[in-house]
Amino acid sequence: MKKTVDKMASVRSVGGILSALHGLAATAALLLSLSGAALAETSFAFDAAPGKLPKTVIPVHYAIELAPDFVTLALPGVEMVEIDVREPTARLTLNAVNTTFASATIDDEAQFAEVTLDAAAQTATFSFPQPLAAGAHRLRIAFTAQINKFGTGLFIVDYPTADGTRRLISSKLEPADARRIFPCWDEPAFKATFALTVTVPRNFLAVGNMPIVREQPVEPGSKKVAFAPTPKMSSYLFVFTAGELERLTADADGVTVGVVTTAGKSGQGRYALDSAVKLLGYYNDYFGVKYPLPKLDLLAIPGGFGGAMENWGGITFFESRLLFDPATNADTARRGIFNILAHEMAHQWFGDLVTMGWWDNLWLNEGFASWMATKAVEQFYPQWQNWLNGYGQKQYAMGLDARRTSHPIQQAIADHSEATVAFDAITYNKGQALIRMLENYLGEQAFRDGIRKYMAAHAYGNSTTTDLWQALESAAGKKVTGVAASFTEQDGVPLIVAETACDGASQRMTLRQDRFVIAPSTAVALPPRSWQIPVAVGPLQTKQPEQVLLQGSADIAAGACGEAVKVNLGDIGYYRVEYGPNSRAVLTKSLPRMSVDDRLNFVTDSWALVQAGRAESSSYLALVEAIDAGDHRAVWDQIIFSLNVFDRLARDRAERPAIQAYARTKLRPVFDRLGWDGGGSGDDDTTLLRASLIRALGEFGDEEILAEAKRRFSGFLQDPKSLPNALRDSVTHLVGLSADRATYDTLLTLARKSTVTNERLRYYFAAASARDPELARATLALTLTDELPGTIVSSMISTVASAGEQADLAWDFVQKNFNTLLTKQGPGFRDQFVANFMTNFTDEAHAAELAAFAPAQSTTGGRVMVARALESISISADFKARALPAVDAWIKARR
Ligand SMILES: [Zn+2]
Repeated sequence: MKKTVDKMASVRSVGGILSALHGLAATAALLLSLSGAALAETSFAFDAAPGKLPKTVIPVHYAIELAPDFVTLALPGVEMVEIDVREPTARLTLNAVNTTFASATIDDEAQFAEVTLDAAAQTATFSFPQPLAAGAHRLRIAFTAQINKFGTGLFIVDYPTADGTRRLISSKLEPADARRIFPCWDEPAFKATFALTVTVPRNFLAVGNMPIVREQPVEPGSKKVAFAPTPKMSSYLFVFTAGELERLTADADGVTVGVVTTAGKSGQGRYALDSAVKLLGYYNDYFGVKYPLPKLDLLAIPGGFGGAMENWGGITFFESRLLFDPATNADTARRGIFNILAHEMAHQWFGDLVTMGWWDNLWLNEGFASWMATKAVEQFYPQWQNWLNGYGQKQYAMGLDARRTSHPIQQAIADHSEATVAFDAITYNKGQALIRMLENYLGEQAFRDGIRKYMAAHAYGNSTTTDLWQALESAAGKKVTGVAASFTEQDGVPLIVAETACDGASQRMTLRQDRFVIAPSTAVALPPRSWQIPVAVGPLQTKQPEQVLLQGSADIAAGACGEAVKVNLGDIGYYRVEYGPNSRAVLTKSLPRMSVDDRLNFVTDSWALVQAGRAESSSYLALVEAIDAGDHRAVWDQIIFSLNVFDRLARDRAERPAIQAYARTKLRPVFDRLGWDGGGSGDDDTTLLRASLIRALGEFGDEEILAEAKRRFSGFLQDPKSLPNALRDSVTHLVGLSADRATYDTLLTLARKSTVTNERLRYYFAAASARDPELARATLALTLTDELPGTIVSSMISTVASAGEQADLAWDFVQKNFNTLLTKQGPGFRDQFVANFMTNFTDEAHAAELAAFAPAQSTTGGRVMVARALESISISADFKARALPAVDAWIKARR
């Protein structure tokens, strides 16, 4: 599911501690054993795989017949499951949710079962009068499940077309919702084959994991569609979609690749289709195993859930994430489309062909797919500088990982509810950053060879993280487990404290490990950690920096006295660096000579040190002063981000006007260089930076920018072509912020008129940004109607709170309408949304309200999320009290 490649010399480890260096000779080696990172995990073994279901009975093949009722939303079905009984038993336990059972019989009605349901465990137990003998049996179940209105299990989507509203159904099952469609062993280690037959209206196109093998008409006005059986796979990868759909196809190396859209939109799938053909070839080669299914469909679903899901052979996407409409999309939208497509397609191997044995190793799926996608983008579109521009992903993960409520990449997962909240930035982004660091450490070819071995060894099966390390070690002939395990089996962010000192005409640098922590100043200290860190260190502009495998600390030669020596060259490592005063002064002076990756790395670490209370705000602001107005988008993006943090914390505080004025002063010259109508290809970073600056300056209250946005929006209403697609999001957002009733109504009218999802979202979110409390109330009321795609209801409420600055209004609304919203939005609203939403607040009073809001903590996953949110609010409150007065003083002193 979904959310900077410099080649470096490989690390040479000497005595397991410190390496010989190119230009920087290691002299002292130090300490260290990895106390927290002893390798406990073994290779995958079915019987040892965690999970809730007994392993005495294994499903081998499911033949499933479904007859969805599109009006009553009942989902009657019959399934025949070929099972392998491993030891005699009279009881079978499998998963089911909101399902009623008409009958459960074994071996052609040889025995009828009594069915017992456990709603909390989401299981059904079939008890037979006589024990089943060990060996093969056939289980037949007649049942009725339910189709949902929210995007979980099998769900409906009602969407607008030129001829009125239409309804389709689609599915989304990760991590554990196949059990909402048909009773099954719904844990990833229970791989089986699935053959689906469905009854749908005759004018519908039905899509499953595999090609259709048979269609026959049945009365009244329906047809029965049978799909070929899948290869062995986990239940969460099952897919079924049906509606008034159309399909555009292409051949890729013998595989039929298709884009499936609602009627009339397949032309917008052309970019995705062409990209998928390219990616299939690239991955066939990279993984060394050809894509094993005869077809791969990319389905654009106009509602239900956001993001995308890697169902094997039938990837589903929220429509705006897949389709490219040249009339309404900015050219740069192709970046997001290619990226998410590359992520989901990488899963067809990493996740689908080889699947983690249990959700404790979810990172294997997500960290790897995220890394592979970025690598693929760098391959096909190096000009997009995907590692550089995607720097925020690692930064975000490090921000969470520095806290008490972080967790190791590999974490124990108790149940389906905890599995649901494991899809976080630690799993995705830290996982991605770690794999990048390891590829760099092992070398690109050796790493790829290891992945090929891993694929070949575990195809159609399951694996653990240990299986991956073993494959990489055997291919690379180099130890990786110790390094990797120090990052996957313990939480936290390493900090390297670095300082140079002259030694005659030459210079030495000391490197010392510590733990980087962000915590409220009153919090109890977190326990120390140690890591094996591949550290790239050297003079600026070094083409092939040598790496030190740092354990503990080191003292190394570092060129000539006064030379600028930087740690984490290329920004590839997952660690923070804190320089001593000598190093920092020299590096600050050398900013213009740094590569943009290094400059960004230096700036992001400086910002993080302020957040952690290890440096004053003034040290970061002084650095901002040293950044050139013509610097790369990524650098300015980081500065805009930090200024936004200060601004958000300063809401309702006296410092806010000064902070906003300062932000305008810093950003306006950057924008003035670019102007509203400057040139560019439309698919470059200048175009993106222009749009970000317009948005940021408007939010910081730049009256000229706000007025011009309004003027251009009026022009757009007269003649849409007058406003370039690339500026539409920013301009419409600013118009929304300051909207009066008439403008608000115009935005809603535009949203209602459009059938293009990306356009509808632009208008709805702009309306939700309105700061006028009356309009905020109107938006909140809208979320209770059936007008909005269910996918965006939660985000609309969050937008009222954040961009619209009506957080208390929105929180009151959520509490008053909680049950209605929960029914509409599904369990994620209770278990994840509420906690995340409350991080809009930065004061202890609201933290207490969250802590007292019982529904949010009624599941294991919900309790995890609330604990994280409470820490987040606490950190914000502390940072606000500490940093804002200092920022204010610094700004005043400069006037
Ligand atoms: Zn994914």
